[in-house]
Formats: sequence, C-alpha cells, structure tokens
Amino acid sequence: MTAEQTAPTTTSVTPGRAAGVSGPEPTSAPESGRAEAAATPAPVVFDVADLNVYYGNFRAVRDASLQIRQHEITAFIGPSGCGKSTMLRCFDRMNDLIEGCRVEGTLRYHGVDLYDAKIDPVEVRKRIGMVFQKPNPFPKSIYDNIAFGPKIAGLDGDMDEIVESALRRAALWDEVKDRLKKSAMGLSGGQQQRLCIARAVAVEPEVVLMDEPCSALDPIATARIEDLMQELKTRYTIVIVTHNMQQAARVSDRTAFFTTEVNETSDTRTGVLVEYEVTDKIFSNPSDERTENYVTGRFG
Ligand code: ADP
Repeated sequence: MTAEQTAPTTTSVTPGRAAGVSGPEPTSAPESGRAEAAATPAPVVFDVADLNVYYGNFRAVRDASLQIRQHEITAFIGPSGCGKSTMLRCFDRMNDLIEGCRVEGTLRYHGVDLYDAKIDPVEVRKRIGMVFQKPNPFPKSIYDNIAFGPKIAGLDGDMDEIVESALRRAALWDEVKDRLKKSAMGLSGGQQQRLCIARAVAVEPEVVLMDEPCSALDPIATARIEDLMQELKTRYTIVIVTHNMQQAARVSDRTAFFTTEVNETSDTRTGVLVEYEVTDKIFSNPSDERTENYVTGRFG
C-alpha cells in the first residue's frame, strides 16, 4: 500500500503549497558565496534529529542529526551503501513508497514535523522536488513534460509562460524553444536531465533534492548541471547525493560525510553520519580521521 493510500486526513491546501508545511514562498536570495555559509548561517529549512531509517529489521541509517540551510547546496558523500540516498528520500517522504521502510526520529521542515500523521506526503512533494540519477522524462513532448506537474498542482497562470520560465531556469530554453512539441526522448542525456530539473522547478518547490544527478552524464553535461546548480541555489535550497567527491568540493556549501559502520560482534552494518561541516573544512581540515581517510582517497 502506498503512503498516499494510507495518508490520514489532511488540512486544506493552497495550490502548490503543502498542507501543514507552510514554509516561506520561494524567494530569491542574494548570491551567497561559500564564505558566507561559514560566517552567517542561513535559516534552517530541515532540522533532522536522531533519524533512524529501517528496511524491515535492517537499520540503514543510525542516529543522524543535521540541519539543511536555505539557499545553500548541501552535499551527501560517502562510500556506496552508507545510506546517502536513503537519507535523501526522507526529505520528501519518498521512503514511504518503499514497502517495509520505516523512519524514526524527527525531521522538521520549517519547524513542522514532516512525519506528523496530519501531513500529506503528496503535498510535501510539491514543496520538495526530486531529480534522479537517470534522466527520466515522460515519453511525451518537451512542453507536456513541464506542463504536467503545474496542471496537476493547479498552478495559476498562463501555461506557456510557466513552461518557458521553468525551461529558462533550467538553462534549456534556448536549445528547445523551437521544438517544444517534439518528444523529450529525442534530447541528449544532459538535456534530458536539465528537462527533469525544469520539471522539478515548474511546480515552484522550495527545495530540490538531487540523487547523483550527473552520474549518467559526460563531463561537459556534468559541468552544465553544476553551473546550473549555482544559479538555482539563489532561488532554491538544494541537497545533492554524489559519489563524486570533486563534485561535492566544487559545488556545495556544506558537506555531510556518511560511512558504513560494521559491528563485528553482531555482524550488522549501518550507515552513520560521521561529520557535517562547511565544505572547505571537510576537504581541507576535517575533524574526524574517517573523513580525512575518505577525502584523501585512503578509503572507499
Ligand atoms: P547509498 O546511497 O549511500 O549508496 P543507500 O541509501 O542506497 O546507500 O543504501 C543504504 C543501505 O540500505 C544499503 O545497505 C542498501 O542495500 C539498503 N537499501 C537501500 N534501499 C533498500 C530497499 N529498498 N530495501 C532494502 N534495503 C535497501
């Protein structure tokens, strides 16, 4: 059974706004550099405390606590299987869709408990968009790919303008403006990924989650997405999972390093958050030896 089917009754919803998760309207922030991330902390968007995530009896993430800040790019790094994607999926309640997955602890979005029984996960996903590893456009026209979300969300406004604006924000407009009615499947991989970013921002979310968004792309397409992320963060809060440490070092303001801890006695393994800091510190002067070993390539 899906979370949607089991969701308890919810409060009324303004189109495009999540029930009970009334964060601020998306705003434009001044260009915020990484030095600012260290000096003047931005407002907290997500406050995660003692989060544990289970798949059945298996604890994939143990006691993770961190705060995600507004108009910043936060990167999750760590070896494969340490729980980065699991953690990311908690922020838009995507784990609800995985049978047997259970989340314990607290995850607040602008002070509201995202896992409160009154919160409708479908509404959460209007405020918090997700871009996946493999570009996944619908087998429809470029235009329809973008228009679908705003239509479902009942967004007000002229649809042509909504589509153009989203494509511009994803730095794709110039490349596709003459073929909006052509299939999205004809785009290159990098263009498809930017289309997916346009689709995510078309519903006016506040947060964009990205799960290894460049791992299927060549270096040029990757560089375009990284540049785009810098533009997007003036308007959105971004959390990215990446297996590419250089990418985390290049694009993010803060970095969370996760690893897998193995308990030899009970022969169990679990993902733990080792260190969460401004990115420059994680890569130049980490506090934990495990982080240092990882970022210097001695492990993983
Ligand atoms: P990462 O993103 O760091 O590679 P994941 O979050 O994908 O790690 O996985 C963390 C752990 O949870 C791994 O041991 C993985 O096998 C397990 N896991 C992930 N998804 C599921 C699932 N749907 N069902 C059961 N176990 C899962």
